[in-house]
Amino acid sequence: NQRWSLQGMTALVTGGTRGIGFAVVEELAALGAVVHTCSRNQAELNERLQEWQSKGFKVSGSVCDLSSRDLREKLMETVSSVFDGKLNILVNNAGITHLKSFEEQSLEDYTRVMSTNLDAPYHISQLAYPFLKASGCGSIVFISSVAGSMALPGLSAYAASKGAINQITKSLACEWSKDNIRSNAVSPWGVKTTIGKDTPETSADIQEQFLRLIAGTAIARLAEPEEISSLVAFLCLPAASFITGQVILADGGYTAGGCW
Ligand code: NDP
Repeated sequence: NQRWSLQGMTALVTGGTRGIGFAVVEELAALGAVVHTCSRNQAELNERLQEWQSKGFKVSGSVCDLSSRDLREKLMETVSSVFDGKLNILVNNAGITHLKSFEEQSLEDYTRVMSTNLDAPYHISQLAYPFLKASGCGSIVFISSVAGSMALPGLSAYAASKGAINQITKSLACEWSKDNIRSNAVSPWGVKTTIGKDTPETSADIQEQFLRLIAGTAIARLAEPEEISSLVAFLCLPAASFITGQVILADGGYTAGGCW
């Protein structure tokens, strides 16, 4: 059934070596897509590429630090040549966070978060535009966050980057529908990944606040990456052809409200 298949489609997933991105690469490849991914760590990328090859998935990859404008341009040149100028799916997934109170966020923290979480997906989407258009049927999925719609402890800069992503999702849906390109965002609540591992300095207060919020969520646990990648894949399928401009929460019921 073609409505539930990505056979013959090409996809770029940023940050596919770990966490949600890794699960998205596997989900799209399992549905038949040919996938290209990127990360900053060559050794880890090579390991993953071997793993995928042994599973029979068609995945290639390149090293790219998405916070650099020049390297983003190089990445998209590679993607264009690997996929012969035609891209059906772009998943803007790579992201970072620093869990710190507003007054503790340094200019470096702020700049690093904004360049990775906002500048990169914005620019990559612009660079991908001709290839998405040339495919005749394009879909962009941004990995946003519940933090893009609600204040959460220690996430002020991150929340600003994700709130902006939510708005870009809607602008692109309206501007690019003429080219048969859809644009949606997926906003997860806490997911079991390696995010934040670079900031072990997170205060006990913030950690404590998160534990309380998770305990008060309808489904009171962290999500597995596969519980997010399934929604991402759905949004890329022909079956989702009328869904665009949406920010969809996969939040275990966190925003449903009153926890008791
Ligand atoms: P992980 O840290 O587990 O994985 C992030 C991936 O992105 C890695 O492959 C990493 O590889 C890559 N990456 C990070 N920075 C860059 C960069 N500058 N250039 C290229 N690749 C990069 O994170 P998650 O899977 O948790 O996060 C994925 C997305 O999900 C992010 O946008 C995040 O904001 C969002 N999210 C996560 C939540 C969670 O609780 N985990 C909740 C809500 C949203 P490498 O470091 O080697 O470059």
